[in-house]
Amino acid sequence: MQALYFLHMQPNRYDIIFTGGGAACRMLLYFLSKKKGFNRLRILVLEEENTTAEKTWCFWETENNPFQQLVHKEWKQLKFDAKQINIKQSIQPFTYSCINGSAFNQYFNDVFFNHHANIHILHEKINSISKEENTYTVGTATQQFKTARIFNSVPALVADTPQQMWQHFEGWFVQTETAWFDEQTASLMDFSDYEGGPFGFLYVLPFNKNEALIEYTFYSSEVYDSLVYENKIRNFLSQKNCPAYTVTKKEKGKIPLYREKIDQQTKNGIINIGGAGGLIKPSTGYAFLRMMEDCKQIADSFETNQLKRRTRHQRFLFYDHLLLKIIQEDPSCAVAIFKRLFQQQPLHRILKFLNEDSSLLDELKIFAGLPWTPFLKRISLFK
Ligand SMILES: Cc1cc2nc3c(=O)[nH]c(=O)nc-3n(C[C@H](O)[C@H](O)[C@H](O)COP(=O)(O)OP(=O)(O)OC[C@H]3O[C@@H](n4cnc5c(N)ncnc54)[C@H](O)[C@@H]3O)c2cc1C
Repeated sequence: MQALYFLHMQPNRYDIIFTGGGAACRMLLYFLSKKKGFNRLRILVLEEENTTAEKTWCFWETENNPFQQLVHKEWKQLKFDAKQINIKQSIQPFTYSCINGSAFNQYFNDVFFNHHANIHILHEKINSISKEENTYTVGTATQQFKTARIFNSVPALVADTPQQMWQHFEGWFVQTETAWFDEQTASLMDFSDYEGGPFGFLYVLPFNKNEALIEYTFYSSEVYDSLVYENKIRNFLSQKNCPAYTVTKKEKGKIPLYREKIDQQTKNGIINIGGAGGLIKPSTGYAFLRMMEDCKQIADSFETNQLKRRTRHQRFLFYDHLLLKIIQEDPSCAVAIFKRLFQQQPLHRILKFLNEDSSLLDELKIFAGLPWTPFLKRISLFK
């Protein structure tokens, strides 16, 4: 990596500016830091918040990842529930893992950034980005910064953001007085209380016999009042006869789920990463592993003229958008599709499919058991 030494005479000039300093920015910095010459690059991270919202990231994989030491809990079994359906299965060869956003951020704030004095972090809101020849100017309310390279993870700075819906959720970290949770098994989806209306389900991440995170999530175009999610969680605990419990912490958030076909990885020379770069899987909201793979590829190709990105086969984009359209237009039908899917397929096959590692044969086996009409009706979307 070649730093532009002569430019360092200008204090507001950087080799790289990261607009947005969340998960994707930190992952990319981590992978770039493994490359020779990284410490000579002058890097600015512009992040409006100086505290980051509580997030719990779950993902499944077959190998350890570079952030393995931050994994809070792993499960080898998953559960899927709906009315009259209770499936509990091993997910071999996968492990379902969970990383607390707070542990992730603590590692970066207390360890990583302390080791890399070349990274400057500034907590200011970005108001503008402009480009003249090969130089970008990034503006906040008080200052302007110049660079030849921007990695952006702020969705609002991506031009032409298509119409979207949200996966939104709120969760309770619950501590029971007596041992109650099955700590060996996480729940992926629980549709037991689904009676129609917007697509929504509950899930439970048991950290030990007395502690779990219980979240309720909806997919819709608007976010609801906290009472809506909290009543769902309260009802679940009471119907399952949960013993006396305390809510120790809460988390909430929303993830944009894009409906239209988008290619937003690079716009006007700005490299969009994370959610802003389209790395959130449209039908599920999972992004952590995808962002990690993408950031690793960007870092590995950083010194070449051709930046490499995580690629996905177009057919997965097609499946995602069809499913998202059904979720939006006919949520009850989408719930019925999920029920059929989990009743008919082993969990490991579904997880492989959702990770987009399945073969066409796997996908044929999956689709053969699903109702075709809701999908066929929506294929015109792509004409
Ligand atoms: C609550 C929650 C739970 C999730 N759980 C999972 C999960 O279990 N598994 C999974 O795979 N994915 C999950 N995701 C999806 C995904 O992994 C996260 O959204 C992830 O944080 C995306 O990383 P990012 O860097 O793209 O965005 P962020 O982490 O949101 O980073 C973007 C940053 O830009 C900053 N910013 C925005 N506007 C400006 C501005 N104008 N100026 C300066 N800074 C700005 C924001 O403050 C933010 O810190 C979850 C998302 C949420 C919201």
